[in-house]
Amino acid sequence: MNLILLGPPGAGKGTQAKLLSEGLGLWHISTGDILREELKAGSDLGCLAKTFIDKGELVPDSLVIKLIEKKILEAKGKNGFILDGFPRNLAQAKSLDSIFKIYNLSIDWVIYFEASQKTIVQRLSGRRVCKVCFANFHLNNMPPKKENICDYCGGELYQRPDDNEETIKNRLRVYLKSASLLIDYYEKQKKLFKVNADFNAEKVYQILLKTFEEKKPN
Ligand code: ADP
Ligand code: ZN
Repeated sequence: MNLILLGPPGAGKGTQAKLLSEGLGLWHISTGDILREELKAGSDLGCLAKTFIDKGELVPDSLVIKLIEKKILEAKGKNGFILDGFPRNLAQAKSLDSIFKIYNLSIDWVIYFEASQKTIVQRLSGRRVCKVCFANFHLNNMPPKKENICDYCGGELYQRPDDNEETIKNRLRVYLKSASLLIDYYEKQKKLFKVNADFNAEKVYQILLKTFEEKKPN
């Protein structure tokens, strides 16, 4: 099964991707994590991406498309994958379709996370991320067992520099610019499933599992 997770920053895509990847053995492909990894490694690509990420702007399509093609090739032949944070605009969605065609792949579900503004701001401002494995936590909703320490790898937690009020506002603006086009695009393909992302993580996860079981994708 191949999935796309769509929705505003802070809607919980990364959290659900982690749960689904552990629960169903799917490969988690997050463009945000890949870019942050490049940044950490100090690659040219990472340095270039940083200027966009810090402002909450999209990294140029040509760069992320190349990255995603490489990751999809790595994931091909496995159980399936979850695209988290890609596509983010119509050009990326169309490129993705071309990549799928070339490699004879298809998308089963596009899950659209609908979240209120209040939820988004609350989640992003309390989010803490592991410096080592990029696992996400939340100060109130999903606190780590030990303060500031990752449950999974023992790494130190930090607040993403783009999780500040100013950049959050811009990320939302950038998201809203393309969101409706992407939603229409996948609705027309009859792939879209909307989930209320204001529910807590466990409830959203249960809704998704039930959906996959009851409505077999075309
Ligand atoms: P969020 O969805 O919470 O904003 P991400 O970790 O998915 O966080 O993305 C962080 C930043 O990485 C984005 O603001 C953007 O600069 C860049 N980025 C991630 N995915 C893409 C993409 N598909 N296209 C362009 N830029 C991207
Ligand atoms: Zn970790």
